[in-house]
Amino acid sequence: MHTMIKTDYLVIGSGIAGLTCAHLLSEFGNVLVITKGELKSANTYSAQGGIAAVIEKEDSFESHLNDTIKAGAGHNKESAVKYLVEHAPKAIRFLESIGVKFEKTPVLEACHSRPRVWRTSDFTGRDILNQLIKTVQKNKKISIKEYIDAVEIIESDDGCHGVFAREGDETELKPIFAKQTILATGGFGQLFGRTTNTLGSGGDGLALAINAGLELEDIEFVQFHPTALDLEDKGKYFLLSEVLRGFGARIVDQDGKQFIQQFDPRGELAPRDLVSRAVFFELMNGPVYLDMRHLDEKVIKKTFPNIYKQAKEYGFDIVNDKVPITPVAHYACGGIPVDLKGATKMPGLFAVGEVACTGVHGANRLASNSLLEAVVFSISIADSIERSVEIDKDRDPEIKDIKPPEVVIEDIAQVKAYSSRIGKIMWKRAGIIRTKEGLEQAKKQIVEIPARDYRIQHRQLVCYKILEACLNRPHSLGAHYISDELA
Ligand SMILES: Cc1cc2nc3c(=O)[nH]c(=O)nc-3n(C[C@H](O)[C@H](O)[C@H](O)COP(=O)(O)OP(=O)(O)OC[C@H]3O[C@@H](n4cnc5c(N)ncnc54)[C@H](O)[C@@H]3O)c2cc1C
Repeated sequence: MHTMIKTDYLVIGSGIAGLTCAHLLSEFGNVLVITKGELKSANTYSAQGGIAAVIEKEDSFESHLNDTIKAGAGHNKESAVKYLVEHAPKAIRFLESIGVKFEKTPVLEACHSRPRVWRTSDFTGRDILNQLIKTVQKNKKISIKEYIDAVEIIESDDGCHGVFAREGDETELKPIFAKQTILATGGFGQLFGRTTNTLGSGGDGLALAINAGLELEDIEFVQFHPTALDLEDKGKYFLLSEVLRGFGARIVDQDGKQFIQQFDPRGELAPRDLVSRAVFFELMNGPVYLDMRHLDEKVIKKTFPNIYKQAKEYGFDIVNDKVPITPVAHYACGGIPVDLKGATKMPGLFAVGEVACTGVHGANRLASNSLLEAVVFSISIADSIERSVEIDKDRDPEIKDIKPPEVVIEDIAQVKAYSSRIGKIMWKRAGIIRTKEGLEQAKKQIVEIPARDYRIQHRQLVCYKILEACLNRPHSLGAHYISDELA
């Protein structure tokens, strides 16, 4: 990156949100996509279940809306949920238009009143992302740069002008100027020691927003997924999709007995926060397993071939053995607040996908609403940019003689060690069960980490904000569970 870069639209992130936006915005100007790792390194690539949408005539928007609000503990913004569910069929049509091939019938996931989750296979996210990558790679108006780390927003009195970014192992930042910048950097599961999230999900977008003076919303609502295959000795947690439970998989204790029913009559298909807590408590007595041995082996192997194969590679046979599970950090329900057009409070800056908070998820996300949200609001951003009279489409974003900030870059082993320390603190103190004392302690421990590297400082900043948000909500709600509730 030795020459100055200027583009109409700068998209940061190459998951479903970033690439959908890039594709749609290319109709109105040149697009540059930058992404921190390789193109496929995104949570989208790991998504298994599918994408929720009302397509069948027996289903209704009202039912999808009610299910979403019920899962979100009523904390959702109803207008945003309405927008989401009503635009879901359009999102599916968009994906089909770029070649995504959904199965003919939808499947069931927890808290949906009926099957309405559309999948392409048991690795739906991977199929969608592969199709998006093909689409953007052949689009001449889109340039793609991998291994570029967005580090700081370039701002002036008239808003966002792009970002300062670092290419590969370079030690200096360079400006990338853009008329409109779209943050699509995903979630922050990697801030927790146990997670399904990919390495790039460390909350970078939130750090950029905080440093640019933006407030965050609902970041205390971290969804924990109850059924990750426990590969702790490998430092990995492989998701065992909720659709498996939709097909009848049971969660059992060390004696092979089901126990979730004691916590909630919906059993295995109760909301994720309840099931996660039940598993978490049972793990104090001994190992917990997902058991599919009573199900038809052929059906499971045919419906979940990739999950079966991947688990087998990790040394587990999900059809013939019960397999050890653990809850893990999975999804960030909150993020940078945006309106229905994906706009943040800063002119020239949009946020979309898991990094954004549209308000659709409330205090806990309904399964398979997040891929949906990313597509619905990407379409909305493109539509609003096209139609907006407030957006100056001829604005020159460049700021002359601007000096990039200096950053400290520490040895990667040191960065990993600090990340791991942060992960342990957050998992222990801000995980499934929180207490006021634990959260206060975590705040102290996080700031005490003597990091100078910008990547760790960003993580410290985001964790601190999450911990503050937890402390500011003294009562349990949805995915936020505080065991010593204050009066
Ligand atoms: C295992 C798993 C299974 C899931 N299953 C489902 C499902 O079935 N249905 C569903 O709806 N949702 C599911 N989810 C959630 C869903 O996958 C994510 O919410 C969604 O993919 C997020 O898309 P995104 O584009 O916002 O972010 P991501 O796909 O995570 O992409 C973020 C991108 O930003 C890049 N990035 C981050 N920081 C920077 C930076 N500083 N500079 C440059 N680039 C950066 C990353 O490298 C990445 O390319 C699942 C999640 C996981 C982890």
